[in-house]
Amino acid sequence: MPGKDDNRQEEFTLHMRFSDLGLSPELLQAVESAGYETPTPIQAQAIPSVLEGRDVLGIAQTGTGKTASFTLPMIEKLSRGRARARMPRSLILEPTRELADQVSRNFETYGKNHKLNMALLIGGVSFEEQLRKLDRGVDVLIATPGRLLDHFERGKLMLTGVQIMVIDEADRMLDMGFIPDIERICKLIPFTRQTLFFSATMPPEIQRLTNSFLHNPVRIEVARPSTTVDTVKQVLVKVSREPKTKRAALRQLLGSENVKNAIIFCNRKRDVDLVSRSLSKHGFNAAALHGDLDQSVRMKTLKGFRDGDIKLLIASDVAARGLDIPDVSHVFNFDVPTHSEDYVHRIGRTGRAGRSGASITIATSQDAKYLEAIETLIGKPIELISLSGAPEETKELQSEEAKPARKSPRRSKDKKSDVAAPQESVPATPKKLEESPAPEKKKKPRSNSPVIGLGDHTPAFLLRPVTLPKNAKV
Ligand code: AMP
Repeated sequence: MPGKDDNRQEEFTLHMRFSDLGLSPELLQAVESAGYETPTPIQAQAIPSVLEGRDVLGIAQTGTGKTASFTLPMIEKLSRGRARARMPRSLILEPTRELADQVSRNFETYGKNHKLNMALLIGGVSFEEQLRKLDRGVDVLIATPGRLLDHFERGKLMLTGVQIMVIDEADRMLDMGFIPDIERICKLIPFTRQTLFFSATMPPEIQRLTNSFLHNPVRIEVARPSTTVDTVKQVLVKVSREPKTKRAALRQLLGSENVKNAIIFCNRKRDVDLVSRSLSKHGFNAAALHGDLDQSVRMKTLKGFRDGDIKLLIASDVAARGLDIPDVSHVFNFDVPTHSEDYVHRIGRTGRAGRSGASITIATSQDAKYLEAIETLIGKPIELISLSGAPEETKELQSEEAKPARKSPRRSKDKKSDVAAPQESVPATPKKLEESPAPEKKKKPRSNSPVIGLGDHTPAFLLRPVTLPKNAKV
């Protein structure tokens, strides 16, 4: 429960403007041309503290605007002074190459009125080119821990000039086994530095790290860990577990919803490829993203998706976690994630920075226990809806666990999405499916979630276009 002071703080930050935060006119201009009107709560709280020189402990997930909460004041501070060869003035540690690349693009956007040198030290990019940049002197060095230590051990880099250090996505670093590297790097950087530390969750190992390496930090918590954003409408569709039926259900959903662009999550890499190939075969504009793909292919795919050239990104959890892809209208869970936290991360890809978004989870009778864990974690039931024209077996699956239907929302017949391939309805489920799912332990009936839209109706919220802020890049 938020206390009285928390409420007051929230109230206060709600009315802040960017111009109240102590940023220079050049930065305010860059923020304006990025299309942002008001600072998000983490920006309103972190920016003045960073400018004051305080250490910051930000407990925030991606989607809250946390990247700008450190990049903006860093640009402000680094605009005074010059970099020396091989002695970066600031260091940002990111767990993955994609995240490092993403942060560098934030610097380009917000730093367009400043002449700051930036270098990326990430795997998959040539050492030579990175060295040339370091030689010229960099104000902002963005790195993954392994590549940074490689350069350091080769004697190509000195860390004694670092005045500001950012550790981003610390809990993800923990998942990836980077904590010893982080500890080593922290010890190589002057004690007098300013440290900005961000994590979506605070497990004990992360807490210990912050106790050792942060000095009297300002603690900013903007969203409770493991909660989904309220601006994302979450629904559930139940189908039989035959992969073909799941793919047909997905196509039907893609065709009938107002999908501008979407990330479709699968639990296994091989399904990422399979679903991607199948969607492409059916005429959808789709591409796959997973860890086995070559770095250059991953970067190219991501760029294509960001630029709007690719409309559907089929991804695995590891490849997509933490990625900031603005303006994703829909997230589809082709598979229910087996770790409930992954559900929260997946859903976090849409409804970013206050925008509305939709998430649709395709579930089978086998997913009951995972769904239960997810609903416990997010603290609410996920609304069950029906697929229009769903095969009878699917409807039976739905009705097993559902209550009688409510009057369904209106449906716009001629609304079509620009990702839609030629329409087709879900093929009838083969008879053998009836015997396929092994009978499970007696299931608890799903909570009182009402079924809406039985028959050929589509919920109204899914037909509503996503509203974008002015100037937002699509
Ligand atoms: P992040 O949490 O840093 O990954 O940011 C999530 C998304 O929010 C990014 O697409 C940003 O461009 C966007 N964003 C950041 N700050 C704001 C803001 N003040 N107003 C609107 N969008 C923002």
